[in-house]
Amino acid sequence: MADDLVTCPYNIAHTIQRRRFDNHLMKCEKQYPLMKLETCFFNTTHRIKQGEMEIHLRTCSDKAKHDAQALHIKVQTVTMTKAEIEDHKSDNEDDEEDWGKSCAMSGYDPNANIAQKNVLRTLQNATPSERKAFRKEEKERLERIRSTTAGESKPKIPGMNYA
Ligand SMILES: [Zn+2]
Ligand SMILES: [Zn+2]
Repeated sequence: MADDLVTCPYNIAHTIQRRRFDNHLMKCEKQYPLMKLETCFFNTTHRIKQGEMEIHLRTCSDKAKHDAQALHIKVQTVTMTKAEIEDHKSDNEDDEEDWGKSCAMSGYDPNANIAQKNVLRTLQNATPSERKAFRKEEKERLERIRSTTAGESKPKIPGMNYA
């Protein structure tokens, strides 16, 4: 089958069966020392011209396999770690969420309350949901200021993408 034949990177006149390719490459490597081909990090049968390795590594078909495998291992680790964290800190988080819900249901508006009081004194006696709302409001306010004053002065480099 044509699919099982590969072309030797040292000499395009060499057509080799894929299963013999490794052995053939080792022979040709010695036979053509001046070619100085580099071996792909992901697949020893990929021989790349000097200076083109970077381009090859970006498109190498075996890199995708390698990445997928690495990603799979990573996802497993993260899932495990996350489950462990949930176990330890779920109590505190639930408390804070409940505060927010009960406030909203009783028609209590933490923003309105904060706006009428001295900010420092309010924060000292604040419930978790009040602190949360205050931080959110401050963040939004600062973002509004930033977007109106500094929005145009952001440096732009051609070819670079800013998030
Ligand atoms: Zn060869
Ligand atoms: Zn490769």
